[in-house]
Amino acid sequence: MDNCLFCKMVAGDIPADVVYENDDVLAFRDINPQAPVHILIIPKKHVATLNDVVEEDAMLMGKLFLAAKEIAEAEGVADEGYRTVVNCGASAGQSVFHVHMHVLAGRPLQWPPG
Ligand code: AMP
Ligand code: ZN
Repeated sequence: MDNCLFCKMVAGDIPADVVYENDDVLAFRDINPQAPVHILIIPKKHVATLNDVVEEDAMLMGKLFLAAKEIAEAEGVADEGYRTVVNCGASAGQSVFHVHMHVLAGRPLQWPPG
């Protein structure tokens, strides 16, 4: 997608602080971290929101979770705990319309979220 911030990061046109990458996903540190560990995991394929995920994306979406597990280990927070979040749509606070999973850790996280 030409006009998508995260697609530009996948293409290398916009810099990203990459922490993990494979053929299907890219993960990088959030530019405005809400916790000591705040990483975004995205599919390299452009999918705008969770509402746009289709059956053939099922494996790809699962790979976001596998990446989250690997990243939590690498960041040293797997045992203490971490939160994964996918905001879908404006009311949930989605501001970048390329599906992404937040990984948050390193401080006590409140529940329910705001
Ligand atoms: P959301 O509000 O769920 O759509 O999350 C979008 C996230 O992208 C926010 O947490 C932003 O801080 C983050 N973000 C926006 N631009 C960049 C960027 N250039 N590099 C890294 N993270 C970004
Ligand atoms: Zn995109």
